[in-house]
Amino acid sequence: MKPTAMHIASRNDCLTLDQQDPLAALRQEFSLPEGVIYLDGNSLGAMPKASLTRAQQVIQAEWGKDLIKSWNTAGWFDLPSRLGNLLAPLIGAETDEVVITDSTSINLFKAIAAALHMQASQAATAQRKVIVTERSNFPTDIYVVEGLTRWLDQGYRLHLVDSAEELATAINTDTALVMLTHVNYRSGALLDMEAITALAHNQGALIVWDLAHSAGALPIQLNQAKADFAVGCTYKYLNGGPGSPAFIWVPKRHQAAFHHPLSGWWGHAAPFAMDASFTATPGIRRALCGTQPMVSLAMVEPGLNLFTSTSMDAVRHKSLALTDLFIELVESRCQSHPLQLVTPRAHAQRGSHVSFTHPHAYAVIQALIGRGIIGDYREPGIMRFGFTPLYTQFCDVWDAVEGLRDILDNEAYSPDAERHAVT
Ligand SMILES: *Cc1c(COP(=O)(O)O)cnc(C)c1O
Repeated sequence: MKPTAMHIASRNDCLTLDQQDPLAALRQEFSLPEGVIYLDGNSLGAMPKASLTRAQQVIQAEWGKDLIKSWNTAGWFDLPSRLGNLLAPLIGAETDEVVITDSTSINLFKAIAAALHMQASQAATAQRKVIVTERSNFPTDIYVVEGLTRWLDQGYRLHLVDSAEELATAINTDTALVMLTHVNYRSGALLDMEAITALAHNQGALIVWDLAHSAGALPIQLNQAKADFAVGCTYKYLNGGPGSPAFIWVPKRHQAAFHHPLSGWWGHAAPFAMDASFTATPGIRRALCGTQPMVSLAMVEPGLNLFTSTSMDAVRHKSLALTDLFIELVESRCQSHPLQLVTPRAHAQRGSHVSFTHPHAYAVIQALIGRGIIGDYREPGIMRFGFTPLYTQFCDVWDAVEGLRDILDNEAYSPDAERHAVT
């Protein structure tokens, strides 16, 4: 399966690629609406068919019938760690290093606070006050640092770099922490986790990776890269459902020193001892805070289960084939239109979504959605298309580009389209 090597001249060529696709059967495991080409799985993954049965089970049997007994009998209490262990191999983590809990924003807060605390409690790094990230990072990541450091009021400051190349000079002996998103939500640019982690460590800094747009989309080796902490979403490429709880990874070597300020009873060494004082549990469960939304949490499992029948290398292979094809078709079939590729072309520098700018990007995306081709819009002027190898077909890529070409050729969009609250 090498679509870049062969020239794709027709929809039939795409159908051939779909027939040869070793991941093709996985699409049958998803419930996808008729007549829709879904290119937004990087924002909200599609629904695994098994989610409906699991929802019925957790609501009817576990909650409806067994009631409070389910904390033990249905394994509710253990669920954050059991699901964390299912996710671990997808991100290069070991067993008992990941829990599924809270939101990505909240897990970032915990990881950043714990990392700053680790640095502050060592004489060699206690004076470091700079947190380095990219200006183009997902806004919540920046806002969480702003909120935490303003509240700490200890002189911490953010250093926002304008390109990844600047990291080499921006990270220095004043740096307490580097916080980066592995795949940029807007451009789709992929950072070199191992090289940048080494850069941070060489200067004595710690590093937190946000895997929101990479977990489930490409192979990740957190331990091999010697990363310090990581967080990410389960509702994007992991297909856990809208607002499903996120994950946090703390490697074994940092767990004993991991202290975050949200010390709730689920992170206690003996939650049901009902002690009047907090003692953190020794392992990864110290990253938990309080009671989890069990119905949402249960929905994470069907999504994770789908990865057991494939490998992240196979997922990545198809992801690159899909994105290569999309870029090639847009550039050849829509070449008379002012579309500009924002996403890096090099495989080593891109995730699983592709972004183009267009002067009427928002209106064009609305017109595409009107035809059942679902991508999304991100400021400023960017059309974003996500490719989920588990269910996106090569003929979807062809049909999406044909839809785009037709809309542009016929100017079948309204430039004054009103903005929805969620773009
Ligand atoms: C999607 C995304 C988030 C979302 O955070 P929530 O707390 O789930 O709203 C955070 N960071 C990045 C980089 C993202 O892509």
